Amino acid sequence: MTDRDRTNPATDESETDPTADGTTTPPTTDGDTTMPNPEPATTAETASDESTGESAAADADAATAESGRPAIAATDLSHAFGDVRVLDGVSLSVAPGEIVALVGPNGSGKSTLLRFLARVRAPDEGTVTIGASDGRARVGYLPQQPGFRAGFSATDTLDFYAQFVDDPVDVADVLERVGLAGAADRRVDALSGGMTRLLGLGRALVGDPAVVVLDEPASGLDPGMVERLFDIVSDLADAGVAVVLSSHNLGPVERTADRVVVLDGGRFVADGDPRAVVESVGAADLQTAFGDLVATEEVTGR
Ligand code: ADP
Ligand code: MG
Repeated sequence: MTDRDRTNPATDESETDPTADGTTTPPTTDGDTTMPNPEPATTAETASDESTGESAAADADAATAESGRPAIAATDLSHAFGDVRVLDGVSLSVAPGEIVALVGPNGSGKSTLLRFLARVRAPDEGTVTIGASDGRARVGYLPQQPGFRAGFSATDTLDFYAQFVDDPVDVADVLERVGLAGAADRRVDALSGGMTRLLGLGRALVGDPAVVVLDEPASGLDPGMVERLFDIVSDLADAGVAVVLSSHNLGPVERTADRVVVLDGGRFVADGDPRAVVESVGAADLQTAFGDLVATEEVTGR
């Protein structure tokens, strides 16, 4: 592998996100994001951390218990692309072990918000803090359109990212967890769209981050894999990982998420546990509630 290979491992969103330039940047040491952090790698390690996954989860719990700080604290995020205002003073706090599902119509700003939470990009206004009082935390991030270096196998790809974390990574185990054990030696450019997304999920899990941000992880998966994906998410939360994901799969979201946040018109039009959100509009289920909630908002500029 050449030096150039080592510094240009991914093509995440390079076609859609001008900040993702395909280079890796050194980890930052600050839990607060007020500076752009154009890192395409999905495990953004903000400080060296010798913990295993289990102890990292325990650390996160302990840290929150000690400090009262959430795993993610996003405050007053506002952002515009040109004259299109995408986020308008949005705040979100996520506890260790909590699953927050972000739902909203296409173009409502979900991916933009998730990039801010994963700190691959900084908002015009507002702050994102990850982790506990010492500011040490890792974020695993699955972009909506994960990209990988053509020619690498699935195993090569995860091996590449594994070198950026301190602890040894059992790449075969990661592939097994995301249902790609049978495709371990397949070239990434030969993977289907759904399998590419699963590999992106695997990449997000390398290093056992305490916070995981997943942008439409279930998109393109067959129904069995959708269920498996949400099972993986539940297992992560049970281990103390804070999970924020966007999804249009509202059935599994309703069953799995601790909290549903509905984004529309730059603001949260609902935020609560799934049953509370459904009941708030007198709907039968989240699918129906979603229609009611976003239908009440004027859709402009989209
Ligand atoms: P969602 O993920 O909910 O579909 P996005 O966050 O991708 O929404 O996009 C929200 C809005 O911001 C859309 O109008 C989109 O066109 C616009 N947008 C997103 N990224 C960019 C960008 N890099 N440059 C300009 N406009 C953008
Ligand atoms: Mg999106």
